[in-house]
Parts: sequence; C-alpha cells; structure tokens
Amino acid sequence: MPTETFEFQVEARQLLQLMIHSVYSNKDVFLRELVSNASDALDKLRLAKLKDDTLDADIRDLHIDIDIDKDARTLTVRDNGIGMSYDEVGQLIGTIANSGTAQFIEELKEAQDRAGAEGLIGQFGVGFYSGFMVADEVTLVTRRAGEQQGTRWSSRGEGTYTLETVQDAPQGTTVTLHLKPADPENQLHDYTSPWKIREIVKRYSDFITWPIRMAPESSPGEGDEAPQPETLNSMKALWARPRDEVSDDEYHELYKHIGHDWRDPLETIRLQAEGTFEYQALLFLPAHAPHDLFTRDFQRGVQLYVKRVFIMDDCEALLPPYLRFVKGVVDAQDLSLNVSREILQQDRHIRMMQRRLTKKVLSSVKDMMTNDQDKYATFWREFGAVLKEGLVTDTENRDAILAVASFASTHDDSEPTTLGDYVERMKDDQEDIYFITGESRQAVENSPHMEAFRAKGIEVLLLTDPVDEVWVDTVGAYEGKTLRSVAKGEIDLDAKGDDQADGEKEKQAEEYAGLLRWMREQLGDDIKEVRLSSRLTVSPACVVSDAQDLTPALENMYRAMGQ
Ligand code: ADP
Ligand code: MG
Repeated sequence: MPTETFEFQVEARQLLQLMIHSVYSNKDVFLRELVSNASDALDKLRLAKLKDDTLDADIRDLHIDIDIDKDARTLTVRDNGIGMSYDEVGQLIGTIANSGTAQFIEELKEAQDRAGAEGLIGQFGVGFYSGFMVADEVTLVTRRAGEQQGTRWSSRGEGTYTLETVQDAPQGTTVTLHLKPADPENQLHDYTSPWKIREIVKRYSDFITWPIRMAPESSPGEGDEAPQPETLNSMKALWARPRDEVSDDEYHELYKHIGHDWRDPLETIRLQAEGTFEYQALLFLPAHAPHDLFTRDFQRGVQLYVKRVFIMDDCEALLPPYLRFVKGVVDAQDLSLNVSREILQQDRHIRMMQRRLTKKVLSSVKDMMTNDQDKYATFWREFGAVLKEGLVTDTENRDAILAVASFASTHDDSEPTTLGDYVERMKDDQEDIYFITGESRQAVENSPHMEAFRAKGIEVLLLTDPVDEVWVDTVGAYEGKTLRSVAKGEIDLDAKGDDQADGEKEKQAEEYAGLLRWMREQLGDDIKEVRLSSRLTVSPACVVSDAQDLTPALENMYRAMGQ
C-alpha cells in the first residue's frame, strides 16, 4: 500500500495548533503521557494473552524503553505492548475520541486570551498530541499483537498526517520525537539529557508497574559487551506502600494516569482490608465532574488488580452507580486472574468489598464536611446531584448520604444548608420540612406556591436537580419530620386551635361558595376541586396537586419518556 495522506479532524487540528504555538509552560508532561500510553498498552497485551494464549505475542519481557540520540536530536519511547492496527492508528491518533479532550476544546474556543488558554491546557489531558510541544515531527511505528503487518504514522502537526504499512515492525509501538532546535537560553528543557529524562520519569511515572528502561549513552571503545540499560522507576505499587512513605504528589500522579485527568484530585482515600479476603484500595474523588456523567454510556468503575496484575478498567462491580465518578485502584489478593465481569457481579466477597468501599467513601465525604468546608463545597457542587441518586437506590446508606447532603434554601442566597441545620432553625409550631422542586432556583423562587411561606418567614428548601423529585418521596421524612412539598395538597400555615382564625375561615367559605362552584363548572374535568387557601398573598389563584400525585416536573419527565 502506498503512503496515504490524511487531514486531521477539525478539533484535533485546533489542539495541535495550540501544542505547537502557544505553549503550556510545563512541557515535561509530554513524557508522562507517552509513558502512560505505553503502560496501558502493556496492561492490555498481558490481559489479551491471559484470555487467549494462542495469541501470537511474546509477553516474557514487557517493558518500556526510552532512547536518546543527541546528534539526531530524537527521543524515542518504545513499548512491546498490544500495538495498533492500520485502522486503529487512523481512528485513535487522527481524531479526538477522549471526551474530556473534546470538552477541553470547547472551553478553549471560549478562552479569549493566551493566559486563559494556557491555564486550560494545564487542566486537561491532551495525551499523545502533547509530544508536539517539544517536537516538530512525530513518527509512530506500531504492530497490533497477532498481526503480521505494521503501520507507520507520521506528522509535523500541521494539518495532515501520513499512514503507510511496514513489513518489519517489532511488536508494540515506537514513538519517535524529532525534538525542536535546542534553546541555548533554557537548558532546563533539554530532553536529550539523560539526567533530565531520569528526573521526569521519577517525578511523574515512578509507580508505573512496568520497567521503564533507558539505554546508557554509547561510549565507543569500551569493549564489546553491550552496557546494561538502567531502570528508571521503582515500580512500587502506591496502594501497597505505607501512607507515610508516599507523598501527596505521588498519589496525584497515579490519579492522573488512571483518571486521564491533568488536574489534581480533590481527595485521596486509602483502605487496607486484612483478614480472610485481603485487598488494598486507593480511591480518588476528582475535583471536577466529567460532562458525560449523566449519559447512559458513562464508563464507571475503578481499576481492578489481582496481586499487582492489572485485570480490568471500569470495574463497575466495586462501587454502586451513584459513586460512578470515583476513580482509583482496588488490588485483591484472592481472586482468579481469569475473573470475568459476570462472576464479579455475583461474588459474595466482591459484594462485601463494595459495601465497605461505599461506606469508606461516604465517611471520607463526611470528614471533608467537618474538616474542610471549601473542599466539601466543591465536592457537593460537582457530585451532589449524583450522590443523591443513592438516597433512592441505597437504603442501607440512606442516612449516611443524608448526613453529607446539602440543599439550596430560602434561608441563605448562596450557602446551602443541611437537613440538620434546617431542623434546628424550624419554628416552634412548625412540624414539617418544606421544599419546592423545579427547574431552577429562579423558577422556584418566583412560584406562587412560595408566597405564603415567604410572608410567614418559613424556610423552604429549593430543590432543582431532576433526582430531587424522586428522593423526597422515597426518603419521606428526616428525624421524624415529614418532607412536604409546598406545591402539593392542603397546607395549613395558620397556627392550630386558633378559634378566631377558624371562625374567619368558615365565614369566608360561605362567602365564596358561589364563586367556587362557578369555577368548578367552568374548569370541568381538567381539575379535581377548587378550594379556598391561605397559601397565597399576592397571586389570586394557583394550581396544586394532591399530596400523592406526581409533581408537574415528574409528570413532564414521564410524559417525555413516553409513559
Ligand atoms: P488517552 O490515553 O487518554 O486515550 P491519548 O491521546 O494518549 O489519549 O491516546 C489515544 C489512544 O491511542 C489511546 O487510548 C490508545 O488507544 C492509543 N494509543 C496511544 N499510544 C499507544 C501505544 N503506545 N500503544 C497502543 N495504543 C496506543
Ligand atoms: Mg494517554
């Protein structure tokens, strides 16, 4: 097949332009990205071979090589992992599939200035393309495990790339960066220096479980024996090391590798379970919710290892769906290396593990709430809407979730409140916890249902996430206080046993009986009844549902779903 030239997808082109021209001041991270990809490729090959031992691939010495050629000014990162087919190279390298990166491009378009753009690059992973920060040409040669033919991809990052098949490609993937001309002003960015490479690998990739080797600089005339390559990383699994031996930075680098995120996590959670079913877990709460968190095909779950061997990504059996944003690693001692997703779903030990991990995550959120208000506020802003799904689905942890939940309220314009604080502020004669649901804070605050509550100074929770409609019903009450919608049923805000008020009401009922009857006739089957109410102060009338009816928002939701 002749060499073919292709155009980058529009988003990819924009990203590349940014890599080449802007640029993010911390260029060192390009190496972390290439090593991270190589490590993933080695994990995938070991797993593929485990599943099918007839696969034509050698897994006896899986590793990553870094080679420097000072004279040619090239830096090569090579792995003998899973590799890519011709079509895969086109798909994976020519387009931007990573959803986080697509989001990044969107935000980038909005960032008007260079400083804004640079800040954004720091926050998002750009993966393979980050090579173009330091190189003016990148070449990749790869061969998919089991295939005979290899593929060569090459680009200068300027709009197009070429693809051709090659016959003698070794197993795995080799990425060669033709480094930009040296900057005599800035020796710090000399990527042909073994010292520099050693330092970057140590800083960003020490925990990678595969050896990262660097060939020594060739010094001719020192005998015939080829000098031994040096292994740059310690390969120690961070989750197995004692807490006080590991720095926060090291944990954060692991998070970035497995979470495909460039930002630090909000919280690191460590758990060591001893006993009959031993495992170690290192979990992370991200600082930002991914934009596809509420889509059906959101990849949830943490990585599963068995005795340090990577088994699967996105292991959904380890955490419930409402904790799908949690990233991390769980390493179990006593599982089979051949364990499948189906088996995991049914395994008794895995279910116990899920319960324990769930409680641990919830208690960490609780700690955050007690010890670091700002962190908690960030967490709740990003993930509160997801966590509340647990109020509906996880009866066992309902109280623990309620304890860390907070809600917008008429009590304060900006600070959300907990249910506990709401109850403490309740007036002496107030028996229920009042809430209103709707699409936005503005919409619910302007609702006529709110008038009487505002007039009487009664606090109302403002619930505007779709899931709020559902959990208020399932939960029903908090500390014996009924959760009551201000838009449902009859609400009597006047103090009970007030004879004068009762007499007044009777008089009003007589007075308005004719009007009510007329309205009932006019509205016919559209309504159930018309009644006098004390809930309005400004608006003349409003529509309410029966206490057991669906709220208008839920009704709309079901209707939209075709039910
Ligand atoms: P990400 O790693 O977040 O998916 P990258 O831009 O780093 O994004 O890589 C894009 C994809 O290209 C990877 O998901 C992987 O499928 C493929 N890829 C990159 N490098 C390698 C490699 N060394 N071996 C095999 N596949 C690779
Ligand atoms: Mg990557």
